[in-house]
Amino acid sequence: MDRMNGNRLSERLRESIEEEIATGKLLPGTRLDEVDLATRFGVSRTPIREALRLLLGEGLVETRPQRGAVVAQATPQRLIEMFEVMAELEGMCARLAARRLSDAEMAEIEAAHDACRGSAAARDADAYFYANERFHYAIYAASHNTFLFEQASALQRKLRPYRRLQLRVRNRPQRSFEEHQAIVDALREGDAEKAVQSIRAHVVVQGERFADLIASLSQMTASSSASTDTPAEPAASA
Ligand SMILES: [Zn+2]
Repeated sequence: MDRMNGNRLSERLRESIEEEIATGKLLPGTRLDEVDLATRFGVSRTPIREALRLLLGEGLVETRPQRGAVVAQATPQRLIEMFEVMAELEGMCARLAARRLSDAEMAEIEAAHDACRGSAAARDADAYFYANERFHYAIYAASHNTFLFEQASALQRKLRPYRRLQLRVRNRPQRSFEEHQAIVDALREGDAEKAVQSIRAHVVVQGERFADLIASLSQMTASSSASTDTPAEPAASA
């Protein structure tokens, strides 16, 4: 029983830390000190250590000599490679979803799309971030391939901080929403090829979006000095 509670606690801590990484409260390169985290979350070091171990396994945290656990920091090249794979995984999800999705799954995709419409119209990039996630997970689920769902979800989690950053680029939520429309139309028509092409183009980072991403990366890098215990919030986009 105690062990189960302990596991649940470390799982909740994992989620909290992961959310702080995704929202930029903990920036890439920030040192994750067990004692500081234990104090901040009001828990002992054991569940913190377990949560960090889980995040290490997911690739969201890495260890560095002399610094211990830090928030993972992908190089621009690595990031482009990850988005390239993400685009193909999402393409596979869309291809299978176009053939296999149920009416209820189509309804969920459309509901998520509506939520995206609302937050794009309100120019609320944070709300759009969560609505966008719901939209993409609904497509992974509609593929009816659990293994693919797991792989796409795992990579999506690694890319969360960067996807959030992308949405801070001016008018990106509105453009993203328009790209979703093409995906929704293709899925509704059961046009697998169109679904693949539209979702791939939506996810892959190329051209102007590559330049935008590289430019915004500099905003999110934590100072490499030793005292990164109170990371600054990244600058809000204008
Ligand atoms: Zn999207």
